[in-house]
Amino acid sequence: MAPIGAFSVHRTGVWIRWPADASLGVAMAHDPIASPTTTIADNREPQFVHDEQVAEAARRLESQRARHGRPPNILVYLTDDVGWGDFGCYGGGVAVGCPTPNIDRLAHAGLMLTSCYSEPTCTPSRASLLTGRLPMRHGLQRPPMYGEPGGLGDEITVADILSTAGYHTQCVGKWHLGESTESQPQNCGFDDFYGFLSVSDMYTEWRDPYFFPEIVYSEERTRWIENQPFNKCFVHATRGGEPENVEEVTIPVLTELDDKWCGYSVDFLRRMADQERPWFLYHNTRGAHFDNYPHERFVGRSPGRHPYKDTILELDDIVGRLVATLEETGQLENTLIFISSDNGPEMETWPDAAYTPFRCAKGSTWEGGVRVPGIFHWPGVIEPGQVNDGLFSFTDLLPTLLTLAGLEDFVPADRFIDGVDQASFLLSPDGLSNRKHQYYWLGQMFSALRVGEYKFMMASISDDDTDVHNPGGLTGVSQKYPYGRLYNLYLDPKETRSYLIRKLAYLEAFQNGVRNHLMSFGEYPPKLVVGLNT
Ligand code: CA
Repeated sequence: MAPIGAFSVHRTGVWIRWPADASLGVAMAHDPIASPTTTIADNREPQFVHDEQVAEAARRLESQRARHGRPPNILVYLTDDVGWGDFGCYGGGVAVGCPTPNIDRLAHAGLMLTSCYSEPTCTPSRASLLTGRLPMRHGLQRPPMYGEPGGLGDEITVADILSTAGYHTQCVGKWHLGESTESQPQNCGFDDFYGFLSVSDMYTEWRDPYFFPEIVYSEERTRWIENQPFNKCFVHATRGGEPENVEEVTIPVLTELDDKWCGYSVDFLRRMADQERPWFLYHNTRGAHFDNYPHERFVGRSPGRHPYKDTILELDDIVGRLVATLEETGQLENTLIFISSDNGPEMETWPDAAYTPFRCAKGSTWEGGVRVPGIFHWPGVIEPGQVNDGLFSFTDLLPTLLTLAGLEDFVPADRFIDGVDQASFLLSPDGLSNRKHQYYWLGQMFSALRVGEYKFMMASISDDDTDVHNPGGLTGVSQKYPYGRLYNLYLDPKETRSYLIRKLAYLEAFQNGVRNHLMSFGEYPPKLVVGLNT
C-alpha cells in the first residue's frame, strides 16, 4: 500500500510529489491540510516545523541581538471589543467613519494577519493570551462580573516568565482576569499595575440615567449597588502589594481613562529608555467597550460622529503617542509591537459597536466573534508590507514571545500549552503559519475546527439567519449539529452555506483533528473556574 501522503498535488502550475523524494530532488510542498505536524512534547500542541523558516528566524534574531546586545522590548496593545474591520488597514477606517492613520502606518510597516483568533469574550481571550492555554485549560470560560470570585489564580503567565528572566513588566489599563488578590496583575507577573480590575460598563452603566433610570433615580437602589463588593475605583499596585485606589470611575473620570493610561505608559517608556534590562508593556485600553464616552478632544471628531467612532479615533491616537515615544527615546528599533482586540463586536449594544465583515459577533464562535485584527511590527526584524492569512491564535503569543526573547526553554512543562511557537512564521518573509488547527470552544462545548480554508463546525450559537447580520452572539441559543457543518472561509467568509455534502473526503481528517484535540484533555484534565451555561 502506498504510504499516506504519497500523492501528487498541484501547486503554482507544477506537479510535484509529496512527501519529498530526495532521490528525485523534488522539494516538498507545504499544504495546511495535507502536511503532517510534528510532536514537540507531550504537553504541547503538535505543530508544523518549517526548517528554512526556523533558520531564517534564527538569523534575524541573531542579527537583532548583535545590533542591540539584548532581547527585544515587547509592547502588547490590546483594545476591547474592536472589530476585525474597524481599522483602515483592514478595510474600515475612513470607509466606516473612523480613520486610523497611526495603526494603518504601523500595519503597513509590519505584518498584518487576517486570520488572528481570540476567544469569544474578554476574559477567556485575555487569559489565553497571557497563559498560552485555551479557556478549557485555564478555566476562565466567561468574564467574571460585579466582584464575582475566580480569576487567573495559579496560572503561569508570560509576564511571570519574562519577569523571572529579568524583564521589567508593566500592566496598564483593563485587567478583567479576576479581582481577588491572588489574581491581580501585581501577583501574576507584573511589577506594576495602573488600571481597573474589571470591565468598563460595570463602572458606569448604573450611573447613567439613560441606561439605568431605575437606579439613578432611586436612592435605595443606588445605595444597594454602591454596597456591592466590587471596587468602583481604578487602582495602582506594585508587585505583591495591595492595590491603592486612584480614583472612582464616574462617567467624567471614565472619559479620561484612556488618556491617563496612555500618559502612564508614556512615562513608563521614558523611564525604560536608559534601563539595561528589556521590558514588557501590556497596555489594555478601556475603549471601545460599551458604553463609550470619548475624551472631549475626540467628541464629534470622527466622520461617523458617534461615540464609538470617536473612541476608535482616540485608540488610534494612543498608538501614535506610544510609537512617537518609542521613536523619541530610541527604542522603536528594538521593540516588538503587537496590536489586537480581545474579541469581535458587541452587537447587542449597536450602534455603540464595532464592525466586522464576518458572521455574528462577540460571544459566538462564528468568525465575527473570534477573528480579530493582528498586527506585528518590529523594524529590521519583521519584513514590512506583509499581509498573511496564516492561522494565529492568542494562545500562540506565550511560546512565540518566549522564543523571541531567547527563552524558548522556559515554556511551562507541567501543564498543557495550546500555543504554538510562531516566531519563525512572523520573522520569515511570506512565512507559513506553524499552526495546523484552530480550535473554537463555547465554554465547555467544543464548537469547531479550522484547517486551511475549511471550518468544520459541530456546534455554535444560534442558527437564526438573522445573526448573519450581527444581532449579537451573547443573546444567541447554543445548538449542536447532528452531522456537522463545513464552511469554506475563502468562498464563503460569512459562513452561510454548509459545504459538507460536497466535501466528505475531508471529513475523516477533520474528525481526527477534533478527536486528537479532545483526547489531550485525558492526560491534562479541563479546569473550570468561571463557567458558561452551554
Ligand atoms: Ca472584550
